[in-house]
Amino acid sequence: MTRRELAKSITLIESTRPEDQDAAQAALTRALPDSGKSWRIAISGVPGVGKSTFIESFGWMLAEAGRKVAVLAVDPSSPVSGGSILGDKTRMEKLSAHPNAFIRPSPTAGSLGGVSRKTREAIMMCEAAGYDIILIETVGVGQSEFEVASLSDLFVLLMLPGAGDSLQGIKRGILELADLVVVNKSDGDNITRAEAAQAELQAVLGIDVMRCSALEAEGLTELWSIIDSGLAVAQSDGSLEQRRRTQTRTWLKRTIDDRILSEFWSASEHASRFEQSLRRLDTGEITPFEAIRTTLG
Ligand code: GDP
Repeated sequence: MTRRELAKSITLIESTRPEDQDAAQAALTRALPDSGKSWRIAISGVPGVGKSTFIESFGWMLAEAGRKVAVLAVDPSSPVSGGSILGDKTRMEKLSAHPNAFIRPSPTAGSLGGVSRKTREAIMMCEAAGYDIILIETVGVGQSEFEVASLSDLFVLLMLPGAGDSLQGIKRGILELADLVVVNKSDGDNITRAEAAQAELQAVLGIDVMRCSALEAEGLTELWSIIDSGLAVAQSDGSLEQRRRTQTRTWLKRTIDDRILSEFWSASEHASRFEQSLRRLDTGEITPFEAIRTTLG
Protein backbone atom coordinates (compact mmCIF):
# COMPACT_ATOMS: atom_id res chain seq x y z
CA MET A 1 0.00 0.00 0.00
CA THR A 2 1.41 3.39 -0.94
CA ARG A 3 1.29 6.36 1.44
CA ARG A 4 -1.35 7.91 -0.74
CA GLU A 5 -3.50 4.81 -0.57
CA LEU A 6 -3.04 4.64 3.19
CA ALA A 7 -4.07 8.29 3.53
CA LYS A 8 -7.16 7.64 1.43
CA SER A 9 -8.12 4.59 3.43
CA ILE A 10 -7.86 6.55 6.68
CA THR A 11 -10.04 9.29 5.21
CA LEU A 12 -12.57 6.60 4.36
CA ILE A 13 -12.69 5.12 7.86
CA GLU A 14 -12.93 8.61 9.37
CA SER A 15 -15.84 9.49 7.14
CA THR A 16 -19.12 10.11 8.90
CA ARG A 17 -21.11 9.85 5.65
CA PRO A 18 -23.60 6.99 5.82
CA GLU A 19 -22.78 5.90 2.24
CA ASP A 20 -19.11 5.35 3.20
CA GLN A 21 -19.81 3.08 6.14
CA ASP A 22 -19.89 -0.25 4.29
CA ALA A 23 -16.66 0.42 2.45
CA ALA A 24 -15.04 1.62 5.70
CA GLN A 25 -16.06 -1.57 7.47
CA ALA A 26 -14.73 -3.66 4.61
CA ALA A 27 -11.38 -1.83 4.68
CA LEU A 28 -11.08 -2.41 8.42
CA THR A 29 -11.97 -6.07 8.11
CA ARG A 30 -9.28 -6.46 5.43
CA ALA A 31 -6.74 -4.71 7.65
CA LEU A 32 -7.51 -6.72 10.77
CA PRO A 33 -5.32 -9.81 10.13
CA ASP A 34 -2.25 -7.61 9.54
CA SER A 35 -2.84 -5.26 12.44
CA GLY A 36 -1.46 -5.37 15.96
CA LYS A 37 2.14 -5.83 14.88
CA SER A 38 3.47 -2.39 15.70
CA TRP A 39 4.52 -0.63 18.81
CA ARG A 40 2.15 2.17 19.62
CA ILE A 41 3.87 4.99 21.41
CA ALA A 42 1.99 8.02 22.71
CA ILE A 43 3.81 11.35 22.93
CA SER A 44 2.22 13.95 25.14
CA GLY A 45 3.06 17.19 26.89
CA VAL A 46 1.88 20.79 27.13
CA PRO A 47 1.88 22.96 24.00
CA GLY A 48 5.41 24.24 23.43
CA VAL A 49 7.16 21.37 25.21
CA GLY A 50 8.54 20.22 21.88
CA LYS A 51 6.29 17.34 20.81
CA SER A 52 6.50 17.95 17.10
CA THR A 53 10.24 18.68 17.26
CA PHE A 54 10.65 15.48 19.25
CA ILE A 55 8.58 13.39 16.84
CA GLU A 56 10.51 14.82 13.93
CA SER A 57 13.92 13.94 15.46
CA PHE A 58 12.92 10.68 17.07
CA GLY A 59 10.89 9.55 14.05
CA TRP A 60 13.76 10.48 11.74
CA MET A 61 16.22 8.44 13.79
CA LEU A 62 13.94 5.40 13.61
CA ALA A 63 13.15 5.86 9.93
CA GLU A 64 16.86 6.11 9.17
CA ALA A 65 17.37 2.88 11.08
CA GLY A 66 14.97 1.23 8.65
CA ARG A 67 11.84 1.27 10.78
CA LYS A 68 8.57 2.33 9.23
CA VAL A 69 7.18 5.18 11.28
CA ALA A 70 3.61 6.48 11.21
CA VAL A 71 2.60 9.63 13.06
CA LEU A 72 -1.00 10.20 14.07
CA ALA A 73 -2.60 12.85 16.22
CA VAL A 74 -5.36 12.73 18.72
CA ASP A 75 -6.56 16.24 18.46
CA PRO A 76 -9.24 17.60 20.71
CA SER A 77 -10.04 19.83 17.69
CA SER A 78 -11.62 22.32 19.96
CA PRO A 79 -11.26 26.05 19.50
CA VAL A 80 -10.51 26.22 23.25
CA SER A 81 -7.36 24.15 22.90
CA GLY A 82 -5.98 26.50 20.30
CA GLY A 83 -6.75 24.17 17.47
CA SER A 84 -4.99 21.55 15.53
CA ILE A 85 -1.75 19.89 16.49
CA LEU A 86 -0.67 18.41 13.22
CA GLY A 87 -2.88 20.60 11.12
CA ASP A 88 -0.07 22.96 10.32
CA LYS A 89 1.52 21.34 7.30
CA THR A 90 4.87 23.04 7.79
CA ARG A 91 5.52 20.96 10.88
CA MET A 92 7.60 17.79 10.61
CA GLU A 93 8.53 18.69 7.07
CA LYS A 94 11.76 16.75 7.12
CA LEU A 95 10.24 13.59 8.54
CA SER A 96 7.28 13.69 6.19
CA ALA A 97 9.66 13.57 3.23
CA HIS A 98 11.35 10.41 4.53
CA PRO A 99 10.34 7.36 2.50
CA ASN A 100 9.90 5.31 5.70
CA ALA A 101 7.58 7.82 7.34
CA PHE A 102 3.88 8.50 7.07
CA ILE A 103 2.39 11.55 8.74
CA ARG A 104 -1.31 11.98 9.09
CA PRO A 105 -2.15 15.61 9.66
CA SER A 106 -5.22 15.97 11.78
CA PRO A 107 -8.11 18.03 10.53
CA THR A 108 -8.15 21.61 11.65
CA ALA A 109 -10.30 22.80 14.50
CA GLY A 110 -13.91 23.20 13.68
CA SER A 111 -14.04 20.62 10.92
CA LEU A 112 -15.99 17.37 11.24
CA GLY A 113 -16.09 16.37 14.86
CA GLY A 114 -15.43 12.97 16.30
CA VAL A 115 -12.48 12.24 14.07
CA SER A 116 -10.08 11.53 16.89
CA ARG A 117 -12.38 8.73 17.97
CA LYS A 118 -11.21 6.83 14.92
CA THR A 119 -7.56 6.85 15.96
CA ARG A 120 -7.67 3.23 16.92
CA GLU A 121 -8.88 2.31 13.46
CA ALA A 122 -6.26 4.57 11.87
CA ILE A 123 -3.59 2.71 13.85
CA MET A 124 -4.87 -0.57 12.42
CA MET A 125 -4.69 0.77 8.87
CA CYS A 126 -1.10 1.95 9.39
CA GLU A 127 -0.14 -1.42 10.81
CA ALA A 128 -1.71 -3.24 7.89
CA ALA A 129 0.28 -0.98 5.57
CA GLY A 130 3.47 -2.20 7.25
CA TYR A 131 4.24 0.60 9.71
CA ASP A 132 5.86 -0.94 12.76
CA ILE A 133 6.17 2.13 14.95
CA ILE A 134 3.17 4.35 15.48
CA LEU A 135 3.75 7.65 17.24
CA ILE A 136 0.54 9.18 18.52
CA GLU A 137 0.73 12.84 19.41
CA THR A 138 -1.61 14.59 21.76
CA VAL A 139 -1.79 17.89 23.61
CA GLY A 140 -1.17 17.54 27.33
CA VAL A 141 -4.23 19.31 28.48
CA GLY A 142 -6.79 16.73 29.44
CA GLN A 143 -9.33 14.43 27.90
CA SER A 144 -7.32 13.37 24.87
CA GLU A 145 -4.59 11.90 27.12
CA PHE A 146 -6.95 9.38 28.55
CA GLU A 147 -8.10 8.49 25.08
CA VAL A 148 -4.52 8.07 23.89
CA ALA A 149 -3.51 6.07 26.95
CA SER A 150 -6.31 3.69 26.06
CA LEU A 151 -4.79 2.92 22.68
CA SER A 152 -1.04 3.04 23.20
CA ASP A 153 1.47 0.47 24.42
CA LEU A 154 3.62 3.11 26.03
CA PHE A 155 2.81 6.65 27.11
CA VAL A 156 5.70 9.12 26.97
CA LEU A 157 5.19 12.44 28.70
CA LEU A 158 7.51 15.28 27.71
CA MET A 159 8.19 17.91 30.36
CA LEU A 160 9.85 21.31 30.36
CA PRO A 161 13.09 22.18 32.17
CA GLY A 162 12.86 24.05 35.46
CA ALA A 163 12.08 22.62 38.88
CA GLY A 164 8.86 23.91 40.37
CA ASP A 165 7.70 24.87 36.92
CA SER A 166 7.91 21.29 35.91
CA LEU A 167 4.58 20.26 37.39
CA GLN A 168 2.72 23.29 36.15
CA GLY A 169 0.04 22.83 33.60
CA ILE A 170 0.03 19.06 33.88
CA LYS A 171 -2.74 17.45 35.80
CA ARG A 172 -1.77 14.84 38.31
CA GLY A 173 -3.95 12.28 36.55
CA ILE A 174 -1.95 12.73 33.38
CA LEU A 175 1.36 12.30 35.19
CA GLU A 176 0.02 9.02 36.45
CA LEU A 177 -0.72 7.84 32.93
CA ALA A 178 2.93 8.22 31.93
CA ASP A 179 5.05 5.12 31.52
CA LEU A 180 8.03 7.28 30.74
CA VAL A 181 8.72 10.90 31.71
CA VAL A 182 11.32 12.82 29.72
CA VAL A 183 12.53 16.36 30.32
CA ASN A 184 12.98 17.88 26.87
CA LYS A 185 15.09 20.92 25.88
CA SER A 186 18.02 19.66 27.90
CA ASP A 187 20.55 21.66 25.89
CA GLY A 188 22.67 24.83 26.09
CA ASP A 189 21.65 27.12 28.91
CA ASN A 190 18.74 24.86 29.83
CA ILE A 191 20.81 21.93 31.08
CA THR A 192 20.93 22.92 34.76
CA ARG A 193 17.21 23.59 34.81
CA ALA A 194 16.55 20.34 33.01
CA GLU A 195 18.56 18.47 35.65
CA ALA A 196 16.59 20.20 38.38
CA ALA A 197 13.31 19.19 36.75
CA GLN A 198 14.58 15.65 36.36
CA ALA A 199 15.50 15.42 40.05
CA GLU A 200 12.21 16.93 41.14
CA LEU A 201 10.09 14.69 38.95
CA GLN A 202 12.02 11.62 40.04
CA ALA A 203 11.36 12.52 43.67
CA VAL A 204 7.68 13.24 43.10
CA LEU A 205 6.90 10.32 40.84
CA GLY A 206 9.30 7.73 42.21
CA ILE A 207 10.29 6.64 38.69
CA ASP A 208 13.38 7.18 36.56
CA VAL A 209 13.08 10.35 34.55
CA MET A 210 15.17 10.90 31.44
CA ARG A 211 16.39 14.03 29.69
CA CYS A 212 16.75 14.75 26.00
CA SER A 213 17.10 17.50 23.46
CA ALA A 214 14.72 17.03 20.58
CA LEU A 215 16.25 20.04 18.84
CA GLU A 216 19.79 18.70 18.95
CA ALA A 217 18.71 15.06 18.72
CA GLU A 218 20.49 14.22 21.95
CA GLY A 219 19.50 11.49 24.35
CA LEU A 220 17.22 9.96 21.74
CA THR A 221 19.21 6.76 21.18
CA GLU A 222 19.26 6.13 24.93
CA LEU A 223 15.55 6.82 25.08
CA TRP A 224 14.87 4.43 22.22
CA SER A 225 16.89 1.68 23.83
CA ILE A 226 14.83 2.03 27.04
CA ILE A 227 11.56 2.00 25.08
CA ASP A 228 12.68 -0.87 22.87
CA SER A 229 13.84 -3.06 25.73
CA GLY A 230 10.83 -2.14 27.90
CA LEU A 231 8.37 -3.11 25.18
CA ALA A 232 10.31 -6.27 24.35
CA VAL A 233 10.00 -7.34 28.00
CA ALA A 234 6.28 -6.48 28.02
CA GLN A 235 5.85 -8.53 24.88
CA SER A 236 7.60 -11.59 26.24
CA ASP A 237 6.03 -11.55 29.71
CA GLY A 238 2.51 -11.12 28.32
CA SER A 239 1.82 -7.73 29.89
CA LEU A 240 1.61 -6.04 26.50
CA GLU A 241 -1.01 -8.51 25.37
CA GLN A 242 -2.90 -8.00 28.62
CA ARG A 243 -2.82 -4.22 28.20
CA ARG A 244 -4.12 -4.46 24.67
CA ARG A 245 -6.84 -6.89 25.67
CA THR A 246 -8.07 -4.49 28.34
CA GLN A 247 -7.95 -1.65 25.81
CA THR A 248 -9.96 -3.65 23.29
CA ARG A 249 -12.64 -4.33 25.88
CA THR A 250 -12.88 -0.69 26.85
CA TRP A 251 -13.04 0.30 23.19
CA LEU A 252 -15.74 -2.23 22.40
CA LYS A 253 -17.83 -1.06 25.31
CA ARG A 254 -17.43 2.55 24.30
CA THR A 255 -18.24 1.84 20.68
CA ILE A 256 -21.40 0.03 21.69
CA ASP A 257 -22.35 2.86 24.07
CA ASP A 258 -21.77 5.40 21.31
CA ARG A 259 -23.86 3.48 18.84
CA ILE A 260 -26.76 3.06 21.26
CA LEU A 261 -26.65 6.75 22.10
CA SER A 262 -26.60 7.87 18.50
CA GLU A 263 -29.36 5.44 17.55
CA PHE A 264 -31.46 6.67 20.46
CA TRP A 265 -31.10 10.35 19.59
CA SER A 266 -31.44 9.89 15.86
CA ALA A 267 -34.88 8.39 16.38
CA SER A 268 -36.99 11.50 15.94
CA GLU A 269 -39.59 10.59 18.56
CA HIS A 270 -36.95 10.62 21.31
CA ALA A 271 -35.60 14.01 20.41
CA SER A 272 -39.08 15.50 20.10
CA ARG A 273 -40.32 13.88 23.31
CA PHE A 274 -37.26 15.35 25.03
CA GLU A 275 -37.97 18.84 23.71
CA GLN A 276 -41.59 18.51 24.72
CA SER A 277 -40.64 17.36 28.21
CA LEU A 278 -38.29 20.32 28.59
CA ARG A 279 -41.08 22.73 27.73
CA ARG A 280 -43.46 21.09 30.19
CA LEU A 281 -40.73 21.12 32.79
CA ASP A 282 -40.26 24.87 32.26
CA THR A 283 -43.94 25.55 32.81
CA GLY A 284 -43.97 23.41 35.92
CA GLU A 285 -46.38 20.85 34.47
CA ILE A 286 -44.08 17.93 35.18
CA THR A 287 -41.16 17.07 37.46
CA PRO A 288 -37.65 16.28 36.16
CA PHE A 289 -38.33 12.61 36.92
CA GLU A 290 -41.45 12.63 34.78
CA ALA A 291 -39.43 14.37 32.05
CA ILE A 292 -36.97 11.48 32.06
CA ARG A 293 -39.72 8.89 31.97
CA THR A 294 -41.54 10.61 29.11
CA THR A 295 -38.37 10.98 27.05
CA LEU A 296 -37.36 7.37 27.47
CA GLY A 297 -40.89 6.35 26.57
P1 GDP B 1 4.83 21.37 20.64
O1 GDP B 1 3.84 22.48 20.75
O2 GDP B 1 4.88 20.58 21.90
O3 GDP B 1 4.66 20.52 19.42
O4 GDP B 1 6.28 22.07 20.54
P2 GDP B 1 7.20 22.38 19.27
O5 GDP B 1 7.86 21.13 18.79
O6 GDP B 1 6.43 23.17 18.29
O7 GDP B 1 8.32 23.26 19.94
C1 GDP B 1 8.04 24.47 20.60
C2 GDP B 1 9.30 25.33 20.61
O8 GDP B 1 10.30 24.70 21.40
C3 GDP B 1 9.91 25.51 19.22
O9 GDP B 1 10.39 26.82 19.13
C4 GDP B 1 11.03 24.50 19.20
O10 GDP B 1 12.08 24.88 18.35
C5 GDP B 1 11.49 24.51 20.65
N1 GDP B 1 12.10 23.23 21.02
C6 GDP B 1 11.57 22.00 20.83
N2 GDP B 1 12.43 21.05 21.29
C7 GDP B 1 13.50 21.71 21.79
C8 GDP B 1 14.72 21.29 22.40
O11 GDP B 1 15.01 20.11 22.57
N3 GDP B 1 15.57 22.28 22.80
C9 GDP B 1 15.30 23.60 22.64
N4 GDP B 1 16.20 24.47 23.07
N5 GDP B 1 14.16 24.03 22.06
C10 GDP B 1 13.29 23.10 21.63
